[in-house]
Amino acid sequence: MNIEWDSIFSALESWYAIQNGEPAVTMVASTTGRDPWAILLSTIVSLRTKDAVTMVASRKLLAEAPDPMKMDELPEERAAALVYPAGFYRTKAKNLKKIARILLDRYNGQVPADMNALLALPGVGRKTANLVLIEAFDMDGICVDTHVHRISNRTGWVCTPEPDKTESALRHILPIQYWKRINTLLVLYGQNVCTPRWAKCEICTIAQYCNTGIKVLSLQ
Ligand code: SF4
Repeated sequence: MNIEWDSIFSALESWYAIQNGEPAVTMVASTTGRDPWAILLSTIVSLRTKDAVTMVASRKLLAEAPDPMKMDELPEERAAALVYPAGFYRTKAKNLKKIARILLDRYNGQVPADMNALLALPGVGRKTANLVLIEAFDMDGICVDTHVHRISNRTGWVCTPEPDKTESALRHILPIQYWKRINTLLVLYGQNVCTPRWAKCEICTIAQYCNTGIKVLSLQ
């Protein structure tokens, strides 16, 4: 399959340029000067949580725990109250406390710029680790969340049963200059056009490069 990545990303960037929104973690990155702790914290909060809720909860948490030391001192009940109403707020608060302790014990209070070290932290999977490496350290990574996974499969770029396998497949076929951007672009695209319940192929800017879109448009 010959995938026209340059045309696809050009079309997605043009679409993105006229949108108002930005994914929550990207917004945290730009408003904190790419602070690794703020990005790690907001990425944990964002799991299975809407962007608007992530933004509010992250701001509240960062006001009281702007670094691992302060998070370590924050009572767990208070941390949970600040994460609420984000989903799994008790688990997230517990994990953030544990992460803060590990960062203080092993990394001098710094977030490590290393995939394996990040994956060893509680509650951190490949999606979170990739996002931290990309947003905080400007490293090459492919962050595959539910939107990137769904769209990559609907388009036919990959044929994979789960996000981690999608990341692995994309690492083989996606030119490296697009690795860092695919998440930001497809998250917003997945929230607005190629949505979970309804793919709006008739207004899709990349329909001509998508197996599903080509089928839908040929039936019209
Ligand atoms: S053509 Fe349809 S299925 Fe393909 S990316 Fe666009 S909205 Fe999604």
